[in-house]
Amino acid sequence: MDFETVIGLEVHVQLATRSKIFCAASAAYGGEPNEFIDPVTLGLPGALPVTNKRAVEFAIMLGIATSCEIRRFNRFARKHYFYPDLPKGYQISQFDEPICERGRVDFFIGDIKRTIGLKRIHMEEDAGKNIHDSRTNSSLVDLNRAGVPLLEIVSEPEIHSPAEAAAYLRAIRQLVRYLEISDGNMEEGSLRCDANISLRPVGQLTFGTRTEIKNLNSFKFVERALEYEIARQTSILKAGQHVVQQTLLFDSVNGTTRPMRSKEESADYRYFPDPDLPPVVVEESWIREIQRELPKLPAQWANELVSEFGLSQYDATVLTTERAAVEYYHQVVAACGNAKAACNWVTSELFGVLNKAGLSIEESPVSSSSLGALIKLIETDVISGKMAKSVFEEMFATGKTPDAIVQEKGLKQVSNDEEILVAIRKEFDNNPGQLAGYLGGNERLHGFFVGQVMKATGGQANPKKVNELIRQEAALRQK
Ligand code: ADP
Ligand code: MG
Repeated sequence: MDFETVIGLEVHVQLATRSKIFCAASAAYGGEPNEFIDPVTLGLPGALPVTNKRAVEFAIMLGIATSCEIRRFNRFARKHYFYPDLPKGYQISQFDEPICERGRVDFFIGDIKRTIGLKRIHMEEDAGKNIHDSRTNSSLVDLNRAGVPLLEIVSEPEIHSPAEAAAYLRAIRQLVRYLEISDGNMEEGSLRCDANISLRPVGQLTFGTRTEIKNLNSFKFVERALEYEIARQTSILKAGQHVVQQTLLFDSVNGTTRPMRSKEESADYRYFPDPDLPPVVVEESWIREIQRELPKLPAQWANELVSEFGLSQYDATVLTTERAAVEYYHQVVAACGNAKAACNWVTSELFGVLNKAGLSIEESPVSSSSLGALIKLIETDVISGKMAKSVFEEMFATGKTPDAIVQEKGLKQVSNDEEILVAIRKEFDNNPGQLAGYLGGNERLHGFFVGQVMKATGGQANPKKVNELIRQEAALRQK
């Protein structure tokens, strides 16, 4: 029997606000343990929370960007559970009245467009961190993260493979980075996700029993954990047994999942509206104002690359991964005037070396104007495409401009007809046998002469010119 995979992700994004979601303590990453705390963070009696307007604005921005309905009247709720990193004994979250509902995330896998529905996006506070110290056999609590604003983005169960789950997660990271509401840094925990997964026989309409894998903090882990779960659930179902609904942890060392706890129901959390916080009222005018100030989104950038620059959807997807990259690309085009050539240079040459060096586009030693100037040198036949590759390497290593490198190395291409003709005549005279064969119609010998002339000119002759002039000179000799 064949099974279909059904996946839904709950993605947590940490918002890049300066202060926490309900108090003025810093929301910065790092710091000495318990450096960023105050009475609200500590849940001291009498300390009252005040909602951070910027966090609400960020939630609305993401809601608009994902075509959600923004709830004009939404509310915070207390979610109760006991854990040492949660001093109040409850987390402030949103329950049945979240700020955003029913949206969608669009993205491309290669040329294929995918759309995943969103159930909701809600605001909540992060918890602190327990640090287990094996040397002293004690546990320590750091509350710097407690109260940092998060958005939880809950997808519909519409994802059908681990690769698609990773692509969806990348699309969310891309969106929040374009919006500048989060750095989307998975290593620092600014972006993490819980993956729900079930299988069902192909053709069956009802969902199978799901498991939930908690706290995946890299794209790789999301894929590996889901692949492991598919294999595990498949073998259970094939053996005629039932999948147990539970919460799992992914062990990245051996690539397996293991039970963490049995799945809790929402009733277990005793949710109720937080009486310390007034409901969040979102005026229509506020939404319009935020909408007006929304930056251009990745899909809009990509559409422009396809319609205005004639790039493929695939190239547009690659170039818009990061906002800094698409901006860089636009600068290269402005400097050289050739959109296709700029695309090739940025996506294959530049991204290739940046990747290898572990650098981001912002750290590129080759500026956009330099790369544009290099492309221009090829277009105007000053250097050949082949020379350009070595000039580019030098630019990357030294940060020098292409003109400086061409000057220094005397790399200028020989495009002067007379100079090239002299070399051609010499090669024709030195190789009478090959010339006779060539004139007799052996096309392979055309390549031979091109090679000879390129060698004779130290690789600096313009190959296009060499090609043309060999034919021209041969025609003269035919007569
Ligand atoms: P809960 O209230 O139990 O957390 P939700 O309905 O909010 O459940 O769903 C949580 C996440 O689980 C969502 O991303 C949803 O798409 C996903 N999900 C729900 N049912 C299934 C299922 N049978 N298989 C896979 N994912 C599922
Ligand atoms: Mg849930």
